[in-house]
Amino acid sequence: MRIESDVKLDFKDVLLRPKRSTLGSRANVNLERLYGFRHARLEMPVVPVIAANMDTVGTFEMARALAAHKILTAIHKHYPVEDLVAFFNRQEAGEHRYAFYSLGILAQDLEKFEEVWRRTGGGIRWVCIDVANGYTEAFIDFVKRFRERYPDVVVMAGNVVTADITEALILAGVDIVKVGIGPGSVCTTRKMTGVGYPQLSAIIECADAAHGLGGHICGDGGCTVPGDVVKAFGGGSDFVMLGGMFAAHDESGGEIVEHEGTTYRKFYGMSSEEAMTRYAGGVARYRASEGKSTMLPARGPVDDTVQSILGGLRSACTYVGARKLKDLSKCTTFVRVTQQINEVFGPSD
Ligand code: 5GP
Repeated sequence: MRIESDVKLDFKDVLLRPKRSTLGSRANVNLERLYGFRHARLEMPVVPVIAANMDTVGTFEMARALAAHKILTAIHKHYPVEDLVAFFNRQEAGEHRYAFYSLGILAQDLEKFEEVWRRTGGGIRWVCIDVANGYTEAFIDFVKRFRERYPDVVVMAGNVVTADITEALILAGVDIVKVGIGPGSVCTTRKMTGVGYPQLSAIIECADAAHGLGGHICGDGGCTVPGDVVKAFGGGSDFVMLGGMFAAHDESGGEIVEHEGTTYRKFYGMSSEEAMTRYAGGVARYRASEGKSTMLPARGPVDDTVQSILGGLRSACTYVGARKLKDLSKCTTFVRVTQQINEVFGPSD
């Protein structure tokens, strides 16, 4: 047994130090990025925020709304083949250009992908290979084989939280390593297994490893307010994936429940009992659920939330003197804090 005792940080442990800047208006801050990928051949400007591949977040409707802002959506994997074919078959300029096809590493996941790929004439540009634990050999082998077959698509894969495996995944063919074990809003992995890693440190360490190899990372999970998204980018994340922050909108899917005059939407983890009952006929006897279910007050159209996330990012850039999102991490100095938000009049949601 070993103990690592250097401090590891979460979003709540830091703030960004403001810096003198010559920037005029926040309206001039450019949030688009044009990445060149280590393996894939795709160059298109995007605002590198991604709606999570959860069935109460990553829907076709969400993709449509977010594509208007050049934001990406990881479409959840539970849509039937016919629906996925219809979506990814859209002609040029459609929202499918901003959408990830998501899959796991089972034979049936690959067969389904192959069918959609074939029937859309290779209309898929972004792929998200998602497993709860990205440390298994089976996962790395799958990624290698996938990359050999599909040399040109952008492959995002995870989740992991350490530099060693980030490097291994990039060398195996991944363009964007998805980083985060346990920070998610409806995740119970840390509670059920005791496993995890503070998210900001995971981002900083994995980004450093990835960038050394010409790879990219996506910080996934744990962002609760626009300021957390800023910190994820400030720590070196190239992309940031959001579940809870995009949940409960008109476009999010999720059952609507009326209770005492308020409208709620169901939101649950993809490893929760609710999701496993829906898609896998229940929780298998050998495992525990690692996600929970909740009801969130309905939030209306996602455009308003997008506005506040992008507004927060633009404003943060002007505070630290970054002309574009690309410069944010270079301009970031984190200060460690013990308290950051004054909640004397209640949570400021
Ligand atoms: P959030 O933005 O809500 O904090 O985190 C979203 C992320 O939580 C997802 O992208 C995914 O990585 C993770 N997640 C979603 N469902 C589950 C679950 O049931 N269990 C665990 N451990 N993580 C989940």
